[in-house]
Amino acid sequence: MRAQPEASHFIHGVYREETEGPEFDSLYPATGEVIARVRAARAAMVNVAVASAQTGQKEWAAMPAIERGRILRRAAELLRERNRELSELETLDTGKALQETLVADAASAAECFDYFGALIATLSDEHIDLGGPFAYTRREPLGVCVGIGAWNYPIQIAGWKAAPALACGNAMVFKPSEVTPLSALKLAEILIEAGVPKGVFNVVQGDGETGRLLVGHEAVDKVSLTGSVPTGSKVAALAGEGLKKTSLELGGKSPLVIFEDADLDDAVSGAMLANFYSTGQICSNGTRVFVHRSIRKAFVEKLVERTRRMVIGDPMDEATHMGPLISQAQYDKVLFYMRLGQAEGADLVYGGDIAEVDGFADGWWVKPTIFADVADSMRIAREEIFGPVMCVFDFDDEDEVVARANDTEFGLAAGVFTKDITRAHRVVSRLKAGTCWINNYNLTPVEMPFGGMKKSGIGRENGKAAIESYSQVKGIYVESGPVDCPY
Ligand code: NAD
Repeated sequence: MRAQPEASHFIHGVYREETEGPEFDSLYPATGEVIARVRAARAAMVNVAVASAQTGQKEWAAMPAIERGRILRRAAELLRERNRELSELETLDTGKALQETLVADAASAAECFDYFGALIATLSDEHIDLGGPFAYTRREPLGVCVGIGAWNYPIQIAGWKAAPALACGNAMVFKPSEVTPLSALKLAEILIEAGVPKGVFNVVQGDGETGRLLVGHEAVDKVSLTGSVPTGSKVAALAGEGLKKTSLELGGKSPLVIFEDADLDDAVSGAMLANFYSTGQICSNGTRVFVHRSIRKAFVEKLVERTRRMVIGDPMDEATHMGPLISQAQYDKVLFYMRLGQAEGADLVYGGDIAEVDGFADGWWVKPTIFADVADSMRIAREEIFGPVMCVFDFDDEDEVVARANDTEFGLAAGVFTKDITRAHRVVSRLKAGTCWINNYNLTPVEMPFGGMKKSGIGRENGKAAIESYSQVKGIYVESGPVDCPY
């Protein structure tokens, strides 16, 4: 097995093997080859990991912020130095094209460690004058945080959670998705090498059962999940029993609105980035593309012509644009929706089927797919597919398109293409989505907060907003005279 880690878990600075939990395989989605086998953590190992985090957190929180920041920035350097090997591992584990993993995975985690490493020592608290007495605030860590990841951006998700959590002086026990167990272990190695004390970032492998054990653990103070809406509800309910703080980054069915004055080539680029990057397996994807009726025909013609030119094939070849889907389950689900769209009466203008890729007969390949003439009520227009399936809708005016764009239980992201700056800002202010783009799509610089409204989530990752998710404010009153007491 070409990516077998030393052992399943990484706890207190060393690899630990599991004896109790079930085994599971990590597969290379391009071929179905087994690349690694790990075992899920059960209660005993979860207890070890949480106890280690409690110990590590005390030592870590006692360090000055500037020292924690320096260590995190060293971790960012190590991530960048090893970007190629980490990207190849991520491509093996996820099937995503190397062209993407080289720029969007470990590289994004590195940016996050750089940003929060640099930010943390610059934060200062409040002094509040009370006319004699005064008060001040202290921003303190939460304690032990649990991070639970999805399979589409394994090391990026681990970095987006660990960097702000650690910067604020917390420890984290991270559980990657059982589908992509490998790169979080490498991040744990790198953090130790950078100088993070043992126990501050532990990785345990496992499935939903391991996740439940972590979320329900009485010594855990905070849970941050990236996953689907149904899992988010379960995690929030269990965390709620213990009144634990919770951040949720969940699913979406985001709108992308293209007005008649948009630059057509840019709008087509935006729609493709919003649907086909990472083989469509991105939470913020703009899968509902609303195009003004007057340009719809020209837009779809250009879109089809450019989609036809996409290179689907060997993910390790840097010329490849699109790799396979992550798993058999995802393949079955995406194909189901491709067929459902046709049965529901949408106009299939491109794709809609499996893709044949020479030399990769056993992988989970599908074609990038475009449906036009989609009705708002169709299931392909309402449910998260999480594959490269774009739905194109016609619209006539702004009020109508804003209402239709917002007519969803999700609220993760949204985009607008127009040259009219007044309209651009007016429309994004009316869209019920936590992250919006004007004249681009799916860019997530670490400086900008990211997260969802409505059922797409609670809390924000990245930007200064993430500090709120991993710290708590203490208010301290300081008397300056005698105590005024009626007794
Ligand atoms: P998922 O909900 O099936 O699993 C997510 C994680 O939760 C996995 O690690 C899983 O083991 C764990 N888990 C499952 N049940 C659990 C439980 N009861 N308690 C605790 N943990 C549990 O999601 P997935 O299939 O891995 O990922 C795809 C989904 O994630 C999509 O809906 C996508 O939109 C969403 N996603 C969101 C973001 C974001 O930032 N908003 C990013 C990536 C993916």
